Amino acid sequence: MKKVYLDNASTTALHPEVILEMTKILTEDYGNPSSTHSLGRNAKSILELSRKSIAKQINASAAEIIFTSCGTEANNWIMRSAVKDLKVTRIITSKIEHHAVLHTALALQNEYAIQVDFVKIKPNGEVDLTHLVELLSEERKTLVSLMHVNNETGTILDLDRATQICMENHALFHSDTVQSIGKTKIDLQHTLIDFVVASAHKFHGPKGVGFAFVRKNSGLQPLFFGGEQEKGQRPGTEALHQIAGMAKALELSYTNLDKDRNYISDLKRYLLQRLKADFPNSKINGENTFYNIVNVTLPFTADKTSMIVFSLDMKGIAVSRGSACQSGSIRPSHVLAEILSQEDLKKPSLRISLSHFNTKEDIDLLIEGLKAI
Ligand code: PLP
Repeated sequence: MKKVYLDNASTTALHPEVILEMTKILTEDYGNPSSTHSLGRNAKSILELSRKSIAKQINASAAEIIFTSCGTEANNWIMRSAVKDLKVTRIITSKIEHHAVLHTALALQNEYAIQVDFVKIKPNGEVDLTHLVELLSEERKTLVSLMHVNNETGTILDLDRATQICMENHALFHSDTVQSIGKTKIDLQHTLIDFVVASAHKFHGPKGVGFAFVRKNSGLQPLFFGGEQEKGQRPGTEALHQIAGMAKALELSYTNLDKDRNYISDLKRYLLQRLKADFPNSKINGENTFYNIVNVTLPFTADKTSMIVFSLDMKGIAVSRGSACQSGSIRPSHVLAEILSQEDLKKPSLRISLSHFNTKEDIDLLIEGLKAI
């Protein structure tokens, strides 16, 4: 049975060149970057070349890249240290953030009694930046944390505008860029955001590795303590094969960016056409969404609703639930809950997320699979 993988916002297949790079390092370059012998020095050189390569792709300096175990860790670190060490007393975020940000903000509110404010979300899924300006008029040491591309709907934040608003209001700005790094150009000399984070497995790199971009002289302090790795900011022996795999994956992503974006955008147009033709009463959630994500509410009756993801899975088709109302055991999506009516929330929604490995045939199989339910 052909596997049809349409869940690329969850994770992506490794690029074959990344596997080659990682296998070579696992086999030959097993030294510890902190060791002074030649195997160690070789490992250190791979580590620092990876850092340089990643920094170059986003126009940052190598010293501003700190490797972490994942995007979740990077988000937690930045937000926690901003409160603990930079004396932030208010976090402004939104209710459509990934739980790696949302739950962290709420945990910090509990622990440090900081104020947490939520920027309004417009019906089209975008963050209301006028409301952000209003919130920022209250003067206190603030961290704004707003994601670039929403992982469920694909709605996009205007990163330049949000950065400008934060700068004008003397607020620190952190953006969870896990869904956008590697898929769109981000120039950190142009966009003067304070902190961004990335996760390799979202751009055809390995799971279990990510990085934080922390602008120079930010004053962040480590979350935990140990050795001198990452200049003491993130101690622990570096996962060299993961880090080099991530650097390779990011380099490939940006080398092929225009080609892949055009190809995936075409696929998305085709998917939207087919949904419109075969399910005329379906509804796309979010407007002006990112080129690899489609979140759609389907006009299915309650009895079919519980079957969708399971039936597709039986046919080898992997997608995500957009809203979880299809299963009695799972709560509805906190993102869709912000933008859909109570009525629409009861209907099944799917998140279909594409990569350059997909084809039109994959989309045909998905549509046929949905029609068969
Ligand atoms: N932020 C966003 C927007 C995500 O989509 C994800 C992954 O689903 C994460 C953070 C967490 O990243 P990681 O899996 O590397 O912890």
